[in-house]
Amino acid sequence: MQNKILVSACLMGFKVRYNGSEKASLTLARWQHEQRLVIHCPELAAGLATPRAAAEIVDGRGDDVMRNRARIVEDNGQDVTAHYQLAAWLALETAQREQCCAALLTDGSPTCGSQRIYDGTFSGRQIRGMGVAAALLEAHGIRVFSHQQLPQLIAFIAEKDNEDDSVQTSL
Ligand code: SF4
Repeated sequence: MQNKILVSACLMGFKVRYNGSEKASLTLARWQHEQRLVIHCPELAAGLATPRAAAEIVDGRGDDVMRNRARIVEDNGQDVTAHYQLAAWLALETAQREQCCAALLTDGSPTCGSQRIYDGTFSGRQIRGMGVAAALLEAHGIRVFSHQQLPQLIAFIAEKDNEDDSVQTSL
């Protein structure tokens, strides 16, 4: 069984942005060839339209939203919390169904952000924190890496592959 990776759909096609290094791009291309990448957009899966209004988490972070302790609103004031909670559950469902051990997600998003999210004031300010999908994936044991952490993800997958090889050899 290959170690698979859930990937934010909007990251695909922008390989040079992941990391400046050739190794990173080549590794992603190899993973794609090996069918390890599970390309997924949680917000589209949850039925949100494209294009859609900008949305930010207000008074909390992704895990707070999933516990109904914070909301997600659009810049027009509409409360879209339920849509984003559904997006998070669909990301988890996809990752579990595909047996992903890790996720590579676009940072800054109220859904996929894993290092930083916007602060809920629509002023362009960011704070440390996770979006709803990243928080839910981590809470269920799926390691989340931002698109800026590709080298760390490559090291993580290499370690998992080595562990699997050791188990196979000892059988
Ligand atoms: S960052 Fe937004 S657009 Fe990109 S995959 Fe995540 S939910 Fe979809």
